[in-house]
Amino acid sequence: MRLFTDTPQRVLAIYAHPDDADIACGGALATWAAQGASVTLVTVCDGAKGTRGAHHDPRELAEIRRHELTVAASQLGVSEVLSLGRADGEAVNDETLRRDIVALIRRLRPDALLGPDPTATFFGSVYVNHRDHRETGWALLDAVAPAAAMPLYFPDAGEPHEVETVLLSGTHEADVVVDIAGALDAKCKAVLAHTSQISGDLFDVRDVVHDRAAETGLLVSVTAGEAFRELRLFG
Ligand SMILES: [Zn+2]
Repeated sequence: MRLFTDTPQRVLAIYAHPDDADIACGGALATWAAQGASVTLVTVCDGAKGTRGAHHDPRELAEIRRHELTVAASQLGVSEVLSLGRADGEAVNDETLRRDIVALIRRLRPDALLGPDPTATFFGSVYVNHRDHRETGWALLDAVAPAAAMPLYFPDAGEPHEVETVLLSGTHEADVVVDIAGALDAKCKAVLAHTSQISGDLFDVRDVVHDRAAETGLLVSVTAGEAFRELRLFG
């Protein structure tokens, strides 16, 4: 494990659901935004099925989650929030999703792209990685290499662009840690903005965010960190 010391200037984060990025990489996004990076956050799905029963109207829940995401993104200093408008549970690594992601990569021309690691299916015996996360991760990888970089893939979706760095979160193969000590408070506020997703005590959530960041930071001797699997595809 090593400390990730790049300071990307154009950052694109693509996640399945409205709260995914804040938990996975909110600290990194806020850190780079504070250093002047332009950060775009994209959600593939609308989050309208993200409830264990407290919400009954999916359209109302989608609206609530859209608002929560706007609040969270402002805490992180995200420049732009976009949604690809898929229904919850229906992210599929198909040509349409790959084309949408290729078009985003070619328009925004990020030097760092963040998203979920699709190869992580099980986390111990207590969590199966959501299908939407896995499908989003596969679509992102297929879009970045090789499609976005090669002109004959989706020729009407913009000028080809090679993404320098891909950072995958929610991974079993983390090899870099981003120092998020200066952004831990912003990450906490962003995570807590998703009130529809929090059933327990807010202080418990804050403790979990702090504890995980401290545990991860220890791996590279910083006080707070977020871990990623790093890909350098076109070096
Ligand atoms: Zn999710």
